[in-house]
Amino acid sequence: MAKQRTLSIIKPDATSRNLCGKILNHFEEAGLSIVAARMMTLTPEQAGQFYIIHKDRPFYGELIDYMCSGRVLVSVLEGEDAVNCNRTLMGATDPKKADKGTIRALYAESIAANAVHGSDSAENAAVEIALFFPELK
Ligand code: GDP
Ligand code: MG
Repeated sequence: MAKQRTLSIIKPDATSRNLCGKILNHFEEAGLSIVAARMMTLTPEQAGQFYIIHKDRPFYGELIDYMCSGRVLVSVLEGEDAVNCNRTLMGATDPKKADKGTIRALYAESIAANAVHGSDSAENAAVEIALFFPELK
């Protein structure tokens, strides 16, 4: 499989516990390269747009509040099968169901404050990357 890119976000629960270095290490150890990165605090508009696919879910408001509650580290990861590779490294959405050794099993606090985001398809990765890094070629 050719090189692919995916969007990662280290979420506020993880940045506030100084876990960026440990989490980025999982990506690099697995052969994913960080090709862009930006530490930022999302506005409700940015978080709302980013998670627009979840707008009808009961936890949407809570999710937006949480994503704006502190700094996030948004990055673009590149490597073989990057989308699936990152999803495997992250583990299941609910840390109680995440495989041992995955980022969420190790670091997530709850199903809501679950340390990381990762694009779920190549199509969504392209949309998400363009949202945060429109200048990236
Ligand atoms: P992901 O792709 O594994 O991040 O999971 P989803 O796309 O299904 O959900 C997006 C994000 O919404 C998750 O990463 C959580 O931060 C949050 N989330 C998912 N399910 C729940 C839930 O049942 N309650 C709350 N409060 N947040 C949730
Ligand atoms: Mg998702």
